[in-house]
Amino acid sequence: MTHEPAPTHEPETLRIAGRDVPVVTATTVVVGTGSAGFCAADRLWELGHDDVVMVADKVNAGSSRNAGSDKQTYYKLTLSGGDGDSVREMAQTLYAGGAMDGDNALAEAALSARGFLRLCDLGVPFPQNRYGEFIGYKTDHDPRRRATSVGPYTSRSMVEQLEKKVHRNGTRIFDECRVVEVLTRPGADGGREVAGLLVLRTDVHVDPDDPTASPFLLFRCANLVYATGGPAGMYATRVFPNGQWGASGAAYRAGVHGKNLTEWQFGLASTKPRWNVSGTYMQVVPRFVSTDADGGDEREFLTEAIPDYGRLMSLVFLKGYQWPFDIRKAVDGSSLIDLLVYRETVLRGRRVFLDFRRNPVRDEFDPSALSPEAYAYLERAGVLFGTPIERLRRMNEPAYQFYLGKNPYVDLEQEMLEVDVCAQHNNGGLLVDAWWQSNVTGFFPVGEAGGAHGVYRPGGAALNSGQVGATRAAQFIAAHRGPSTVPPGEAFDAAAAAAVAG
Ligand SMILES: Cc1cc2nc3c(=O)[nH]c(=O)nc-3n(C[C@H](O)[C@H](O)[C@H](O)COP(=O)(O)OP(=O)(O)OC[C@H]3O[C@@H](n4cnc5c(N)ncnc54)[C@H](O)[C@@H]3O)c2cc1C
Repeated sequence: MTHEPAPTHEPETLRIAGRDVPVVTATTVVVGTGSAGFCAADRLWELGHDDVVMVADKVNAGSSRNAGSDKQTYYKLTLSGGDGDSVREMAQTLYAGGAMDGDNALAEAALSARGFLRLCDLGVPFPQNRYGEFIGYKTDHDPRRRATSVGPYTSRSMVEQLEKKVHRNGTRIFDECRVVEVLTRPGADGGREVAGLLVLRTDVHVDPDDPTASPFLLFRCANLVYATGGPAGMYATRVFPNGQWGASGAAYRAGVHGKNLTEWQFGLASTKPRWNVSGTYMQVVPRFVSTDADGGDEREFLTEAIPDYGRLMSLVFLKGYQWPFDIRKAVDGSSLIDLLVYRETVLRGRRVFLDFRRNPVRDEFDPSALSPEAYAYLERAGVLFGTPIERLRRMNEPAYQFYLGKNPYVDLEQEMLEVDVCAQHNNGGLLVDAWWQSNVTGFFPVGEAGGAHGVYRPGGAALNSGQVGATRAAQFIAAHRGPSTVPPGEAFDAAAAAAVAG
């Protein structure tokens, strides 16, 4: 699939700080080509608002397309069986996660079925039974069984289907454009409103001898749907995919307010390659080993703080479905494992690995020491035997195969897997109202860039939030926001001039 190269000579060029900057004019610019951005662009088009362009640092980058997990979850209203559910009850669940506004919770519940069924209609193969019921399962912080999944790559499947639709719509997409400045001007209500977006074209080589040449491109627009994902670039230890930087800083510089910015989600993940070691990877109870920086001085460090063999195995098992670090489980629960890994890697400067070739602590696996919950689960799965890798391959062969197909390749039968406590998701972000508009008129942060996620959100609520926020923003824009009124040739504000000059 090809994307439009950014134009070197748009019909219009502005001279900014002595440099010629091509200008693209559109009513709405969607920034980011993840599941939220593509959803917004398609919704706008469907609502008849087709003066839209998309722009991204790398069209094929971002978490939606490149991240996943053992069973990547999408959270939606119950759509099967006799289980009761209601918009109100789902909103209550989302709201109970804390640091979540009630109006966002209500909208995420109210539009959940609409967003989900839209994805199904576009070809995302969510599992259904022969009568068309979407059978759910229970995810973390979920009082019902609202979760569903396409497998490890749910969000990738969403992006692929949405992207095909946006291509069918004929929407222009500018690739290799990195956000530099969000441009605003005084708004009618005394606040600020969107005037445009300045991006750096990372595929352009500028002749250093030409003082007027510029690698910038300027978008003049009335609305920015900002779907730039989590600001992952600030973390060294992260499970966000390579190339996902985020662009929240430019929005803050332009005066967009933030909300719950410190609310990050962390959890155990392999670092080479980057992947959450949730689900079966933990339920088969691998051995946790730390080494010095060169791989020497190997030891099983969990026993230092958890001397009881059965408790140690049961806490590791629980990490399978209690994946994110949770302060409430830190003292006497499964998040103690995260803290102990953190102590090894950060405080002691060591490396931590999962070893699936041998059982923890004792060579023999003694399931009778497990908690009743862990024992019953593993008994049902028929794996009260053998080594962790034997259990993994019996329970979930694709989870073993997964690491064989990655770069770098890891054969869990032969070698250990390096892990760390990694940043995974920003639950806070840019301020949004009930229509996902920020305090800057015409600026709509959607998806992970928006601060609409609760702290204890149910697994899968982030993907639902992206679809709902994008839909709400598109509805508002289509109903209320006309073309840009910035006059052609109006000198863009000091922010653009400084960036271009610098
Ligand atoms: C390992 C992992 C597992 C996850 N599992 C789940 C799960 O099971 N359920 C769930 O609901 N959520 C999960 N999430 C979270 C979910 O994947 C994300 O919240 C969601 O995909 C974000 O989508 P998005 O469209 O907002 O952003 P992204 O998909 O991240 O897209 C961001 C876009 O912005 C562009 N961009 C970024 N920076 C710039 C810049 N400076 N300039 C221009 N463009 C830029 C990128 O190129 C990309 O196109 C997981 C996340 C990870 C990392």
